[in-house]
Amino acid sequence: MSRTSSRHITTQLVHHAYEPPAGFEAPQPAVHKASTVLFPDVAAMRAREWKDKTGYTYGLHGTPTTYRLEERIATLEGGAQCLLAPSGLAAISTVALALLKSGDEVLLPDNAYGPNKALAEAELAHWGITHRLFDPLDAQDLAAKISDRTRLVWLEAAGSVTLEFPDLIAQTRICRDRGVICALDNTWGAGLAFAPFDLLGDGSLGVDVSVHALTKYPSGGGDVLMGSITTRDQQLHLKIKLAHMRLGLGVGANDAEAVLRALPSIALRYRAHDVAARELARFMAKQAPVAQVLHPALPGSPGHQHWQQLCGAAHGGEGGAAGLFSVIFDARHGQEQVDAFCDALQLFRLGYSWGGPMSLVVPYDLPSMRECGTAHLATGTIVRFCVGLEDVRDLQADLEQALAKAFGG
Ligand SMILES: *Cc1c(COP(=O)(O)O)cnc(C)c1O
Repeated sequence: MSRTSSRHITTQLVHHAYEPPAGFEAPQPAVHKASTVLFPDVAAMRAREWKDKTGYTYGLHGTPTTYRLEERIATLEGGAQCLLAPSGLAAISTVALALLKSGDEVLLPDNAYGPNKALAEAELAHWGITHRLFDPLDAQDLAAKISDRTRLVWLEAAGSVTLEFPDLIAQTRICRDRGVICALDNTWGAGLAFAPFDLLGDGSLGVDVSVHALTKYPSGGGDVLMGSITTRDQQLHLKIKLAHMRLGLGVGANDAEAVLRALPSIALRYRAHDVAARELARFMAKQAPVAQVLHPALPGSPGHQHWQQLCGAAHGGEGGAAGLFSVIFDARHGQEQVDAFCDALQLFRLGYSWGGPMSLVVPYDLPSMRECGTAHLATGTIVRFCVGLEDVRDLQADLEQALAKAFGG
């Protein structure tokens, strides 16, 4: 079609001949949006291979924008292949659907991300897939619960809300020795606190699958929902990719662009969140109403030594940790008093999720969340803090004024 086409202007606007010159380059990659992808001829359409990223068939199966983000997340995680899903939870459920069938069993740590447990209790149970919970702080409990029906083991370091740090090396070794696939929910570590596919630093031990809620630190804005599934084994990747395709999971180009834009600053942000969270966790540990502060980098926090070993603090370094900590208020303070503390906070806003610029706080009902023993946790009401990017002195002042208001002096 030429510019002087005799076709109607509406047709010309759809089938426009102009192509911008090639060679445009900018720091931020272009955003490619598509459901339909065009082919030059029928032969090309028939021959197009969608499995290995050598081309494009349909927007759902990948665009230059999603391929680019997948490659960068694979690099962040130290994996070889990556798939994107519309949320962290969708990434979790895709792994489960791809790898489990009726009659199989999946094992989860007792402190797993709550909706992962809910998926096992509801949908997986309906489909004849059973689950068992293991004690995250007792690797032998995991070993004892693996049976010949176990097809998948979920691991999480640190655990959700209570932030116990497991012996991930021992857990991964047990799964490998027993021939069971282990999938790590790596949202907390974010590919920065430790290397999920190379836990010992010598290439000899790693998880099989790493799932990451890109919603958190990779997005960094509190404004995108996305998840990733990273692997090193090509066959395992292909198995999950087929399920991912058949389930019709894809992500929007603008969301992928938002994550691509935030990714270069992830290490700087992670470090800033980490430094501020440790300072505030130490501050909270000194407050009278507080029975226990849970943060893996704090000596005495459950699994602290495993965190030291895995996250680079064993040899005198600072180590890395996410900007999260939880506080258990002494049982002498009732739920109402703790709720009043949360309500009195001004900079820490009430809201789920984490990883964005704004500090957040959520009170949880711990007894309803756990089945295995929690003797390592104080009794009382638990509150989780996610530390954002505000000045840490302002955040501490906010905690001080809310403590005074809710608990006095
Ligand atoms: C937030 C989170 C998820 C789920 O991510 P969404 O994108 O909100 O679905 C999964 N695992 C962990 C540990 C999380 O913190």
